[in-house]
Amino acid sequence: MNAPVASTRMSEEETRELLCELLRLFYDRGWVSGTGGGICGTTPDGLMLLAPTGVHKERIQPPDFFVIDPRDGSVVKPAADPGLRPSECNSIFSAAIRERGAGSVVHSHALSSVLAADLAKGDSLEIRDLEMLKGIRDVTNRDVHLLPVITNTPREYELTEQVEKVLKEERFATANAILVRDHGAYIWGEDVWEAKRHTEVYHFLFEATVARDRS
Ligand SMILES: [Zn+2]
Repeated sequence: MNAPVASTRMSEEETRELLCELLRLFYDRGWVSGTGGGICGTTPDGLMLLAPTGVHKERIQPPDFFVIDPRDGSVVKPAADPGLRPSECNSIFSAAIRERGAGSVVHSHALSSVLAADLAKGDSLEIRDLEMLKGIRDVTNRDVHLLPVITNTPREYELTEQVEKVLKEERFATANAILVRDHGAYIWGEDVWEAKRHTEVYHFLFEATVARDRS
């Protein structure tokens, strides 16, 4: 069987396998290390496949995902291992699915996302003058790309109110990411493949913006 390389019509099983593969790739980049970070995808019937919390992300297997109803965050089907708990990203990922039609969301704990948030002016970060901006849907390399930057909270789910607020703001209409100060980033796409591309592109943009500020 050939593994898919780009499709918006993957089966639930293919999506589970791809999410595991992405966690391994992102772990190797230092974006989901120390059990931090997270990921979700969606099933063909619009339910969310959510990774578990508090586990080594690079070792997650396809049966370890929870099936969640993104309308209210309720668990439709638990992970096969009863010792696993759903990610605290549940309410944030659900908000991105509801408000932005996201088909997949990545939560990164990359150092570059923390350092990029430090460069925010007020509650937003401007990214400009980089060819890689074209990797974000509907963005060109001449645009000044504005990302929301929100304030960290003791527990991840407590970020949800801030996330829901910025997702509705017109000035962030082209943003496919939210930075969380001192913490990381949420990055999404209309399907798992676009979320992968956006995750790679935004990390380049974070790294470039931080490096330029220091030069
Ligand atoms: Zn986190």
